[in-house]
Amino acid sequence: MADRFFPNDMPSFVEETETTVSESSLHRLLSLPFPKTAERLLRAAVDLSETVVKETWVGHRSRVKDPTLYTGALGTAFLLFRKFLLTNNRSDLDLCRDVVKACDSASQGLRRQVTFICGRAGVCALGAVVAKQSADEKLLDYYLRSFEEIKLPAGVPNELLYGRAGYLWACLFLNKHIGEGTIPSTYTAAIVKEIIREGRRFSNKGSCPLMYEWHGKKYWGAAHGLAGIMHVLMDMKLEPEELEDVKGTLRYMIENRFPNGNYPSSEDSKTNRLVHWCHGAPGVALTLVKAAEVFPDEQFLGAAVDAAEVVWSRGLLKRVGICHGVSGNAYVFLSLYRFTGKAEYLYRAKAFSCFLLDRAQPLITAGQMHGGDHPFSLFEGMGGMAHLFLDMINPAGSRFPAYEF
Ligand SMILES: [Zn+2]
Repeated sequence: MADRFFPNDMPSFVEETETTVSESSLHRLLSLPFPKTAERLLRAAVDLSETVVKETWVGHRSRVKDPTLYTGALGTAFLLFRKFLLTNNRSDLDLCRDVVKACDSASQGLRRQVTFICGRAGVCALGAVVAKQSADEKLLDYYLRSFEEIKLPAGVPNELLYGRAGYLWACLFLNKHIGEGTIPSTYTAAIVKEIIREGRRFSNKGSCPLMYEWHGKKYWGAAHGLAGIMHVLMDMKLEPEELEDVKGTLRYMIENRFPNGNYPSSEDSKTNRLVHWCHGAPGVALTLVKAAEVFPDEQFLGAAVDAAEVVWSRGLLKRVGICHGVSGNAYVFLSLYRFTGKAEYLYRAKAFSCFLLDRAQPLITAGQMHGGDHPFSLFEGMGGMAHLFLDMINPAGSRFPAYEF
Protein backbone atom coordinates (compact mmCIF):
# COMPACT_ATOMS: atom_id res chain seq x y z
CA MET A 1 0.00 0.00 0.00
CA ALA A 2 2.67 2.45 -1.05
CA ASP A 3 0.31 5.19 -2.19
CA ARG A 4 -2.35 6.56 0.10
CA PHE A 5 -5.01 6.49 -2.59
CA PHE A 6 -6.16 4.57 -5.65
CA PRO A 7 -5.92 6.37 -8.99
CA ASN A 8 -9.41 7.48 -9.92
CA ASP A 9 -10.16 5.90 -13.29
CA MET A 10 -13.89 6.59 -13.10
CA PRO A 11 -15.30 8.89 -15.80
CA SER A 12 -15.88 12.44 -14.51
CA PHE A 13 -19.55 12.12 -15.48
CA VAL A 14 -21.73 9.31 -16.85
CA GLU A 15 -25.23 9.68 -18.23
CA GLU A 16 -27.63 7.28 -16.54
CA THR A 17 -28.96 4.63 -18.87
CA GLU A 18 -30.27 1.10 -18.71
CA THR A 19 -28.21 -0.15 -21.64
CA THR A 20 -24.55 0.46 -20.85
CA VAL A 21 -22.29 -2.40 -21.76
CA SER A 22 -19.00 -2.36 -19.92
CA GLU A 23 -16.44 -4.90 -18.86
CA SER A 24 -16.23 -3.33 -15.45
CA SER A 25 -18.92 -3.98 -12.84
CA LEU A 26 -18.11 -0.60 -11.28
CA HIS A 27 -18.61 1.24 -14.56
CA ARG A 28 -21.91 -0.58 -15.12
CA LEU A 29 -23.02 0.51 -11.65
CA LEU A 30 -22.17 4.14 -12.44
CA SER A 31 -24.54 4.27 -15.38
CA LEU A 32 -27.51 2.73 -13.55
CA PRO A 33 -30.49 5.05 -13.04
CA PHE A 34 -30.30 6.59 -9.58
CA PRO A 35 -33.29 4.73 -8.06
CA LYS A 36 -31.67 1.42 -8.96
CA THR A 37 -28.34 2.47 -7.44
CA ALA A 38 -30.19 3.64 -4.33
CA GLU A 39 -31.91 0.27 -4.07
CA ARG A 40 -28.56 -1.52 -4.10
CA LEU A 41 -27.02 0.90 -1.64
CA LEU A 42 -29.95 0.45 0.73
CA ARG A 43 -29.58 -3.32 0.62
CA ALA A 44 -25.86 -3.01 1.29
CA ALA A 45 -26.48 -0.49 4.10
CA VAL A 46 -28.89 -2.86 5.83
CA ASP A 47 -26.39 -5.75 5.55
CA LEU A 48 -23.51 -3.60 6.76
CA SER A 49 -25.53 -2.27 9.72
CA GLU A 50 -26.38 -5.82 10.74
CA THR A 51 -22.69 -6.75 10.62
CA VAL A 52 -21.77 -3.65 12.64
CA VAL A 53 -24.37 -4.49 15.30
CA LYS A 54 -23.21 -8.10 15.42
CA GLU A 55 -19.53 -7.18 15.75
CA THR A 56 -19.82 -4.26 18.15
CA TRP A 57 -22.81 -5.22 20.27
CA VAL A 58 -24.19 -8.76 20.01
CA GLY A 59 -20.67 -10.27 19.79
CA HIS A 60 -19.67 -8.38 22.93
CA ARG A 61 -22.71 -9.70 24.79
CA SER A 62 -24.12 -6.16 24.93
CA ARG A 63 -21.15 -4.93 26.97
CA VAL A 64 -19.43 -1.70 26.04
CA LYS A 65 -15.75 -0.99 26.55
CA ASP A 66 -15.42 1.99 24.22
CA PRO A 67 -18.49 4.25 24.52
CA THR A 68 -17.34 6.90 22.02
CA LEU A 69 -18.91 7.80 18.72
CA TYR A 70 -15.53 7.81 16.99
CA THR A 71 -14.34 4.25 17.50
CA GLY A 72 -16.87 2.79 19.91
CA ALA A 73 -20.41 1.63 20.49
CA LEU A 74 -21.99 5.09 20.35
CA GLY A 75 -21.10 5.05 16.65
CA THR A 76 -23.27 1.95 16.30
CA ALA A 77 -26.09 3.73 18.13
CA PHE A 78 -25.73 6.78 15.86
CA LEU A 79 -25.90 4.55 12.79
CA LEU A 80 -29.04 2.84 14.13
CA PHE A 81 -30.62 6.22 14.77
CA ARG A 82 -29.81 7.32 11.21
CA LYS A 83 -31.36 4.09 9.94
CA PHE A 84 -34.45 4.67 12.06
CA LEU A 85 -34.88 8.18 10.63
CA LEU A 86 -34.84 6.70 7.13
CA THR A 87 -36.92 3.55 7.62
CA ASN A 88 -39.00 4.47 10.67
CA ASN A 89 -38.40 0.95 11.89
CA ARG A 90 -39.10 0.98 15.63
CA SER A 91 -36.74 -1.93 16.34
CA ASP A 92 -33.80 0.24 15.19
CA LEU A 93 -34.81 2.92 17.67
CA ASP A 94 -35.22 0.42 20.51
CA LEU A 95 -31.85 -1.19 19.82
CA CYS A 96 -30.25 2.26 19.57
CA ARG A 97 -31.67 3.09 22.97
CA ASP A 98 -30.19 -0.08 24.52
CA VAL A 99 -26.76 0.62 23.06
CA VAL A 100 -26.81 4.23 24.34
CA LYS A 101 -27.81 2.96 27.78
CA ALA A 102 -24.76 0.69 27.90
CA CYS A 103 -22.61 3.60 26.65
CA ASP A 104 -24.03 5.72 29.47
CA SER A 105 -22.66 3.35 32.13
CA ALA A 106 -19.35 2.88 30.32
CA SER A 107 -18.78 6.62 29.76
CA GLN A 108 -19.06 7.71 33.40
CA GLY A 109 -15.33 7.19 33.85
CA LEU A 110 -14.18 8.60 30.50
CA ARG A 111 -11.16 10.83 30.91
CA ARG A 112 -12.37 13.16 28.20
CA GLN A 113 -16.01 13.98 28.73
CA VAL A 114 -16.95 17.09 26.82
CA THR A 115 -17.43 16.40 23.12
CA PHE A 116 -20.01 14.71 20.94
CA ILE A 117 -17.51 12.64 18.95
CA CYS A 118 -15.10 11.48 21.66
CA GLY A 119 -16.78 12.18 24.98
CA ARG A 120 -19.68 11.53 27.30
CA ALA A 121 -21.46 14.60 25.93
CA GLY A 122 -22.25 12.61 22.79
CA VAL A 123 -23.73 9.77 24.84
CA CYS A 124 -26.02 12.08 26.84
CA ALA A 125 -27.02 14.15 23.80
CA LEU A 126 -27.90 11.16 21.62
CA GLY A 127 -29.54 9.49 24.62
CA ALA A 128 -31.78 12.53 25.12
CA VAL A 129 -32.77 12.68 21.46
CA VAL A 130 -33.55 8.97 21.32
CA ALA A 131 -35.59 9.27 24.55
CA LYS A 132 -37.53 12.14 22.95
CA GLN A 133 -38.21 10.05 19.84
CA SER A 134 -39.36 7.19 22.10
CA ALA A 135 -41.66 9.62 23.98
CA ASP A 136 -39.96 8.62 27.26
CA GLU A 137 -40.05 11.81 29.34
CA LYS A 138 -38.29 10.31 32.34
CA LEU A 139 -35.36 9.07 30.27
CA LEU A 140 -35.20 12.39 28.42
CA ASP A 141 -34.98 14.20 31.73
CA TYR A 142 -32.25 11.82 32.93
CA TYR A 143 -30.04 12.38 29.87
CA LEU A 144 -30.57 16.14 29.89
CA ARG A 145 -29.60 16.32 33.57
CA SER A 146 -26.57 14.12 32.86
CA PHE A 147 -25.61 16.44 30.01
CA GLU A 148 -25.85 19.44 32.31
CA GLU A 149 -23.47 17.76 34.75
CA ILE A 150 -20.71 17.76 32.15
CA LYS A 151 -18.51 20.77 32.80
CA LEU A 152 -15.80 22.19 30.61
CA PRO A 153 -12.60 22.00 32.64
CA ALA A 154 -10.15 24.90 32.73
CA GLY A 155 -7.61 24.67 29.92
CA VAL A 156 -9.81 22.51 27.70
CA PRO A 157 -8.73 22.86 24.05
CA ASN A 158 -10.96 24.49 21.43
CA GLU A 159 -11.01 21.86 18.68
CA LEU A 160 -13.80 19.52 17.66
CA LEU A 161 -12.68 16.08 18.84
CA TYR A 162 -11.76 16.95 22.43
CA GLY A 163 -12.54 20.60 22.95
CA ARG A 164 -15.05 23.43 23.19
CA ALA A 165 -16.19 23.21 19.57
CA GLY A 166 -17.11 19.56 20.10
CA TYR A 167 -19.09 20.46 23.20
CA LEU A 168 -20.97 23.20 21.33
CA TRP A 169 -21.79 20.74 18.58
CA ALA A 170 -23.50 18.52 21.17
CA CYS A 171 -25.52 21.57 22.35
CA LEU A 172 -26.56 22.33 18.76
CA PHE A 173 -27.60 18.70 18.27
CA LEU A 174 -29.85 18.88 21.35
CA ASN A 175 -31.38 22.18 20.27
CA LYS A 176 -32.02 20.89 16.77
CA HIS A 177 -33.68 17.63 17.77
CA ILE A 178 -35.35 18.54 21.05
CA GLY A 179 -36.12 22.20 20.58
CA GLU A 180 -34.47 25.60 20.46
CA GLY A 181 -33.39 26.68 23.92
CA THR A 182 -32.94 23.15 25.30
CA ILE A 183 -29.42 24.41 25.96
CA PRO A 184 -29.96 28.17 26.33
CA SER A 185 -27.96 30.53 24.14
CA THR A 186 -26.95 32.52 27.22
CA TYR A 187 -25.00 29.44 28.30
CA THR A 188 -23.39 28.64 24.95
CA ALA A 189 -22.61 32.32 24.29
CA ALA A 190 -20.03 32.34 27.08
CA ILE A 191 -18.26 29.36 25.48
CA VAL A 192 -18.31 31.03 22.06
CA LYS A 193 -16.72 34.15 23.60
CA GLU A 194 -13.99 31.99 25.14
CA ILE A 195 -13.24 30.34 21.77
CA ILE A 196 -13.05 33.72 20.05
CA ARG A 197 -10.90 35.19 22.81
CA GLU A 198 -8.43 32.29 22.68
CA GLY A 199 -8.33 32.41 18.88
CA ARG A 200 -7.46 36.10 18.90
CA ARG A 201 -4.82 35.55 21.57
CA PHE A 202 -3.08 32.73 19.66
CA SER A 203 -3.28 34.65 16.40
CA ASN A 204 -1.16 37.27 18.12
CA LYS A 205 -2.23 39.88 15.61
CA GLY A 206 -0.89 37.71 12.78
CA SER A 207 -2.42 37.77 9.35
CA CYS A 208 -5.00 35.16 10.37
CA PRO A 209 -7.57 36.67 12.78
CA LEU A 210 -8.09 33.43 14.75
CA MET A 211 -5.62 30.65 15.47
CA TYR A 212 -5.56 27.71 17.90
CA GLU A 213 -3.17 25.13 19.19
CA TRP A 214 -3.69 21.51 19.98
CA HIS A 215 -0.76 19.55 21.39
CA GLY A 216 1.57 22.35 20.40
CA LYS A 217 0.53 22.48 16.73
CA LYS A 218 -1.64 25.00 14.92
CA TYR A 219 -3.90 22.59 13.05
CA TRP A 220 -6.07 23.58 10.08
CA GLY A 221 -8.25 20.51 9.57
CA ALA A 222 -11.72 19.56 10.73
CA ALA A 223 -10.80 17.21 13.58
CA HIS A 224 -8.32 19.31 15.55
CA GLY A 225 -8.09 22.65 13.85
CA LEU A 226 -9.47 25.74 12.22
CA ALA A 227 -11.90 24.08 9.78
CA GLY A 228 -13.76 22.26 12.56
CA ILE A 229 -13.83 25.23 14.91
CA MET A 230 -14.98 27.68 12.18
CA HIS A 231 -17.62 25.16 11.08
CA VAL A 232 -19.20 25.11 14.53
CA LEU A 233 -18.82 28.87 15.07
CA MET A 234 -20.83 29.55 11.91
CA ASP A 235 -23.78 27.75 13.53
CA MET A 236 -23.60 29.94 16.64
CA LYS A 237 -24.90 33.44 17.18
CA LEU A 238 -21.93 35.75 16.61
CA GLU A 239 -21.34 39.51 16.93
CA PRO A 240 -20.59 41.19 13.57
CA GLU A 241 -16.86 41.55 14.37
CA GLU A 242 -16.68 37.89 15.46
CA LEU A 243 -18.28 36.87 12.19
CA GLU A 244 -15.69 39.01 10.36
CA ASP A 245 -12.91 37.13 12.18
CA VAL A 246 -14.38 33.79 11.09
CA LYS A 247 -14.60 35.04 7.51
CA GLY A 248 -11.05 36.44 7.67
CA THR A 249 -9.73 33.15 9.03
CA LEU A 250 -11.30 31.19 6.18
CA ARG A 251 -9.95 33.70 3.65
CA TYR A 252 -6.48 33.33 5.15
CA MET A 253 -6.73 29.57 4.70
CA ILE A 254 -7.82 29.91 1.07
CA GLU A 255 -5.02 32.39 0.33
CA ASN A 256 -2.42 30.08 1.88
CA ARG A 257 -3.62 26.72 0.57
CA PHE A 258 -1.51 24.58 -1.78
CA PRO A 259 -1.67 25.55 -5.48
CA ASN A 260 -3.69 22.42 -6.34
CA GLY A 261 -6.50 23.39 -3.94
CA ASN A 262 -5.52 21.12 -1.05
CA TYR A 263 -4.88 22.41 2.48
CA PRO A 264 -1.96 21.81 4.83
CA SER A 265 -2.74 19.88 7.99
CA SER A 266 -1.20 22.62 10.11
CA GLU A 267 0.24 26.13 9.90
CA ASP A 268 3.71 26.07 8.29
CA SER A 269 3.33 22.49 7.07
CA LYS A 270 4.67 22.16 3.52
CA THR A 271 3.47 18.58 3.04
CA ASN A 272 0.73 18.35 0.45
CA ARG A 273 -0.22 14.79 1.26
CA LEU A 274 -3.37 14.27 3.32
CA VAL A 275 -6.79 14.39 1.66
CA HIS A 276 -8.89 13.42 4.68
CA TRP A 277 -11.84 14.83 6.56
CA CYS A 278 -9.56 15.12 9.61
CA HIS A 279 -6.65 16.79 7.77
CA GLY A 280 -6.78 18.36 4.32
CA ALA A 281 -9.23 19.40 1.62
CA PRO A 282 -12.31 17.29 2.48
CA GLY A 283 -12.92 18.70 5.98
CA VAL A 284 -12.09 22.23 4.82
CA ALA A 285 -14.43 21.85 1.82
CA LEU A 286 -17.41 21.11 4.07
CA THR A 287 -16.61 24.24 6.08
CA LEU A 288 -16.30 26.28 2.89
CA VAL A 289 -19.71 25.13 1.64
CA LYS A 290 -21.10 26.24 4.99
CA ALA A 291 -19.29 29.58 4.56
CA ALA A 292 -20.87 29.94 1.11
CA GLU A 293 -24.28 29.61 2.81
CA VAL A 294 -23.43 32.14 5.54
CA PHE A 295 -21.46 34.80 3.60
CA PRO A 296 -22.54 36.29 0.27
CA ASP A 297 -19.06 35.89 -1.19
CA GLU A 298 -18.31 33.68 -4.19
CA GLN A 299 -14.77 33.07 -3.02
CA PHE A 300 -15.94 30.37 -0.62
CA LEU A 301 -17.89 28.32 -3.12
CA GLY A 302 -15.02 28.64 -5.62
CA ALA A 303 -12.54 27.30 -3.07
CA ALA A 304 -14.91 24.48 -2.10
CA VAL A 305 -15.18 23.49 -5.76
CA ASP A 306 -11.35 23.49 -6.05
CA ALA A 307 -11.09 21.35 -2.90
CA ALA A 308 -13.65 18.93 -4.34
CA GLU A 309 -11.45 18.51 -7.44
CA VAL A 310 -8.60 17.45 -5.15
CA VAL A 311 -10.94 14.98 -3.45
CA TRP A 312 -12.05 13.59 -6.81
CA SER A 313 -8.50 13.00 -8.05
CA ARG A 314 -6.77 12.02 -4.78
CA GLY A 315 -9.61 11.07 -2.47
CA LEU A 316 -10.12 7.38 -3.24
CA LEU A 317 -8.17 6.55 -0.11
CA LYS A 318 -7.12 3.05 0.77
CA ARG A 319 -9.42 3.15 3.78
CA VAL A 320 -13.20 2.96 4.03
CA GLY A 321 -14.14 5.20 6.98
CA ILE A 322 -15.41 8.74 7.25
CA CYS A 323 -12.50 10.30 9.17
CA HIS A 324 -9.75 9.38 6.73
CA GLY A 325 -11.41 7.17 4.16
CA VAL A 326 -13.47 7.09 0.98
CA SER A 327 -16.81 7.33 2.81
CA GLY A 328 -15.96 10.66 4.46
CA ASN A 329 -14.62 12.07 1.21
CA ALA A 330 -17.89 11.28 -0.59
CA TYR A 331 -19.65 13.74 1.73
CA VAL A 332 -17.81 16.64 0.04
CA PHE A 333 -19.74 15.94 -3.16
CA LEU A 334 -23.02 15.50 -1.28
CA SER A 335 -22.51 18.84 0.43
CA LEU A 336 -21.78 20.59 -2.87
CA TYR A 337 -24.75 18.85 -4.47
CA ARG A 338 -27.10 20.10 -1.75
CA PHE A 339 -25.79 23.65 -2.11
CA THR A 340 -25.53 23.91 -5.90
CA GLY A 341 -28.08 21.32 -7.07
CA LYS A 342 -25.59 20.27 -9.79
CA ALA A 343 -25.95 16.69 -11.03
CA GLU A 344 -22.18 16.30 -11.43
CA TYR A 345 -21.72 16.38 -7.66
CA LEU A 346 -24.43 13.81 -7.04
CA TYR A 347 -22.75 11.65 -9.68
CA ARG A 348 -19.39 11.99 -7.92
CA ALA A 349 -20.91 11.05 -4.54
CA LYS A 350 -22.51 8.09 -6.28
CA ALA A 351 -19.19 7.17 -7.89
CA PHE A 352 -17.35 7.08 -4.55
CA SER A 353 -20.21 5.10 -2.99
CA CYS A 354 -20.27 2.63 -5.89
CA PHE A 355 -16.50 2.27 -5.67
CA LEU A 356 -16.99 1.15 -2.06
CA LEU A 357 -19.97 -1.02 -2.90
CA ASP A 358 -18.15 -2.78 -5.73
CA ARG A 359 -14.56 -2.91 -4.54
CA ALA A 360 -14.09 -2.28 -0.81
CA GLN A 361 -14.60 -5.84 0.36
CA PRO A 362 -12.46 -7.54 -2.33
CA LEU A 363 -9.70 -4.95 -1.87
CA ILE A 364 -9.71 -5.41 1.92
CA THR A 365 -9.63 -9.19 1.51
CA ALA A 366 -6.72 -8.86 -0.91
CA GLY A 367 -4.86 -6.66 1.58
CA GLN A 368 -4.89 -3.69 -0.80
CA MET A 369 -7.23 -1.59 1.32
CA HIS A 370 -7.17 -1.07 5.08
CA GLY A 371 -10.41 -2.01 6.84
CA GLY A 372 -9.69 0.45 9.68
CA ASP A 373 -7.99 0.10 13.07
CA HIS A 374 -11.52 -0.26 14.43
CA PRO A 375 -13.05 -1.99 11.41
CA PHE A 376 -16.71 -1.71 12.44
CA SER A 377 -16.63 1.79 13.88
CA LEU A 378 -18.46 4.84 12.56
CA PHE A 379 -15.42 7.04 11.99
CA GLU A 380 -12.80 4.52 10.92
CA GLY A 381 -14.66 1.52 9.62
CA MET A 382 -17.71 -0.05 8.06
CA GLY A 383 -20.12 1.92 10.23
CA GLY A 384 -19.18 5.03 8.26
CA MET A 385 -19.68 3.24 4.97
CA ALA A 386 -23.16 2.11 6.07
CA HIS A 387 -23.97 5.69 7.11
CA LEU A 388 -22.92 7.00 3.71
CA PHE A 389 -25.02 4.40 1.88
CA LEU A 390 -28.07 5.36 3.97
CA ASP A 391 -27.45 9.04 3.18
CA MET A 392 -27.24 8.25 -0.53
CA ILE A 393 -30.88 7.12 -0.52
CA ASN A 394 -31.96 10.69 0.09
CA PRO A 395 -29.04 12.95 -0.85
CA ALA A 396 -30.96 16.13 0.04
CA GLY A 397 -31.11 14.93 3.64
CA SER A 398 -27.50 13.72 3.81
CA ARG A 399 -25.20 15.08 6.52
CA PHE A 400 -21.62 14.22 7.48
CA PRO A 401 -22.22 12.50 10.84
CA ALA A 402 -21.56 14.63 13.92
CA TYR A 403 -20.35 17.52 11.73
CA GLU A 404 -23.00 18.88 9.35
CA PHE A 405 -26.49 19.99 10.32
ZN1 LIG B 1 -8.83 10.84 10.36
